[in-house]
Amino acid sequence: STKSDHSERWQIFDLANSVVSERRMQLSSALKEAIENDSFSLYLQPQINLATGKVYGCEGLLRWFHPKLGQIPPDEFIPIAESSGLIHSLTELVLEKGLNYQKQLVEQYPGHVLSLNISGKDLAKKELLVHLITLVNQLNLNPSQIVIEITESVTIANEIYLKNILDDYRSVGVKLALDDFGTGYSSLAYLSRLGFDELKIDKQFVMDIETSKSNQTITKAMSDLAHSLGLRVVAEGIESEQSYTRLQHYGCDYGQGYFISKPLAFEDYLKWLYKVSHSDDVKQYLAH
Ligand code: C2E
Ligand code: MG
Ligand code: MG
Ligand code: MG
Repeated sequence: STKSDHSERWQIFDLANSVVSERRMQLSSALKEAIENDSFSLYLQPQINLATGKVYGCEGLLRWFHPKLGQIPPDEFIPIAESSGLIHSLTELVLEKGLNYQKQLVEQYPGHVLSLNISGKDLAKKELLVHLITLVNQLNLNPSQIVIEITESVTIANEIYLKNILDDYRSVGVKLALDDFGTGYSSLAYLSRLGFDELKIDKQFVMDIETSKSNQTITKAMSDLAHSLGLRVVAEGIESEQSYTRLQHYGCDYGQGYFISKPLAFEDYLKWLYKVSHSDDVKQYLAH
């Protein structure tokens, strides 16, 4: 009968659900332990000035290697950290690691710019901004060489509320980037009212740009519009020399992606910087 069919289906549904929530529970308790034991690495992905071929800086991207579960991607553990209240400790750790790296990097590369991701959930947490200010002062860093990336999804919050928080960040002198642009529904006019300095075009538009005419049109239009509103533009997800050249022609200011480099551990990033800064033609260097 249909009744037993239904109950059977519900059992399967429940089973699938409980597997998912079991993994979440397992991860959220492992996450707590990992924060206490500092089992995270902040990898650095280079960003290039597309017009000059010179290094602009890098984006810090968190990596978690669990001894039993293996590498867990940030797209999986960040949402768990957000829903279990662990995100603030995680972001604190990102700020500490990232800004200590930046301190060492500017000693050799004075203009180096470091971008860090923070969660929308972090914005309401005043202690985090205080922590950022303390680190910038202690390490004697130039705040204008620090970019805080916030994803487009946070911009659905109340405009005045959000504007006040972003102004607090800006008053420290750090720059603000809008991450994953194009994945949400905010208009550029709204974003420019919020005072972002930088727009990051999401990799979904860039990765397959060579085969998608519509992504070419969208990327060019987003870049032009951002420029006319006074924002600088970063394209992420550049995977080939052709798309590197295309984005250069579109006038995108900076680029990031596997064609340039994957995210690297700090020591490897230093080696990469050394090699690139000693080659005359970066694009030639990258293509090999
Ligand atoms: P995101 O901030 O938009 O970072 C860019 C993502 O694109 C990174 O993935 C990067 O490795 C990947 N990527 C860059 N170039 C290419 C490319 O050419 N091809 C492909 N296929 N991928 C590319 P990742 O490191 O897995 O991070 C995913 C997301 O997790 C990040 O997206 C960000 O939203 C979040 N995340 C990572 N680290 C942190 C962190 O420290 N704090 C917070 N709050 N979120 C973080
Ligand atoms: Mg980012
Ligand atoms: Mg992004
Ligand atoms: Mg993203």
